[in-house]
Amino acid sequence: MSATSEPHTHPSAALFVGDDLALDFANSAFGIGDEHRECLSTDAEVIDWLRLAGLPTSMQGVDARPGALLEAALTLRESALGLLKNRKAGRAGDITALNRLLSLGNSYQELVWGTGGQLHAERRQRAATVEALLLPVAEAVATLLVEGDFNMVRQCESADCTLWFYDRTKSHRRRWCSMSLCGNRMKVAAFRARKKSDQAV
Ligand SMILES: [Zn+2]
Repeated sequence: MSATSEPHTHPSAALFVGDDLALDFANSAFGIGDEHRECLSTDAEVIDWLRLAGLPTSMQGVDARPGALLEAALTLRESALGLLKNRKAGRAGDITALNRLLSLGNSYQELVWGTGGQLHAERRQRAATVEALLLPVAEAVATLLVEGDFNMVRQCESADCTLWFYDRTKSHRRRWCSMSLCGNRMKVAAFRARKKSDQAV
């Protein structure tokens, strides 16, 4: 391996660089070729992802067929990615799968006293099916599609990176999934390319 092509290694754990729940979920598989990582391979990994995203994961009272959650998660991700890409290209997309998941919604608010003595409302699901665990994600996808500014929804500029993000910077000039994963690497590559072409002149 030459010094100019450092390996593009992502940790295998899920990345939360999207600055948006829906995009973080879309990013739950990432990388191309040998660098491809799949964060959702089992029901347990879907639960892990939901927990890392700060979402409820209790399956109390839910009788789940093994694999049902994973299946629903992958269907949602495929649907979300299709809709994102179409929306980005200004095209309509297939909303059937997303609507089916949204229709499982049966939530209510519960007031909870915080540790600091402040009162806040938490949304609870009357989850009859395990797929309902994905509702907050499905709702985030729906909100993004309806309310998101798709000029700010972009993929990392690095050619071998597939990660999506919502550019919430003030300057709206975010280019990378993250500085540590791609930004520094691409800056070094650009610097080396400039140096090389300077030497060639
Ligand atoms: Zn990247």
